[in-house]
Amino acid sequence: MREDDILCCGGCGCYGMAGEFFTTEACSSPCQSRIVQKNREKEKKERELAVQKQRREARKREKEAKEALEKQQEQELRRQQRQQQQQMEDDDDQEAEQQQQNAKPRLPYDSPHPWLDVDKGFSWSRYLECTNSRAAPSKLFHEAYPTAKNTFRVGMKLEAIDPEHPALICVGSVVQVQGKHSSSIINNAFVYI
Ligand SMILES: [Zn+2]
Repeated sequence: MREDDILCCGGCGCYGMAGEFFTTEACSSPCQSRIVQKNREKEKKERELAVQKQRREARKREKEAKEALEKQQEQELRRQQRQQQQQMEDDDDQEAEQQQQNAKPRLPYDSPHPWLDVDKGFSWSRYLECTNSRAAPSKLFHEAYPTAKNTFRVGMKLEAIDPEHPALICVGSVVQVQGKHSSSIINNAFVYI
């Protein structure tokens, strides 16, 4: 740098020749001190800004992490709810299947008396189903729902019409009493009275 180069003082802003300046930045010692002071303040401010920026970023990261965690928890909750729902549906299915398995096996259609329930004995609805019959309406009966006690006992003998040979009157044996109904056996054929 030459002595007659024109410089600008960073402390007071005046212009002067390089030879007359205290340093290349300042025209005098006080201006140099002012520049140093200014630089210190500038650096301090920059440091403060940097700290604030770091804090802002830290808060932002914290918020993002919290949101991500909440989202994850929500997803996990939904997944668990879906799983529970699925489990309940599976349980229902299993229960239905179990009930089906627990249901007493019906006698096959080709058995001699497929309308006999394994536990309950004679099943009217099954009888209608197996014989492809329709029940006569109850209004046709004088006493559709008899209230008198069924006094038949198993082993009693009674006079009965042979269902396969209606002209024949035979002796039948009561083999089952169920509510108001009795069933008897004639020549090994079941008759329901
Ligand atoms: Zn100056």
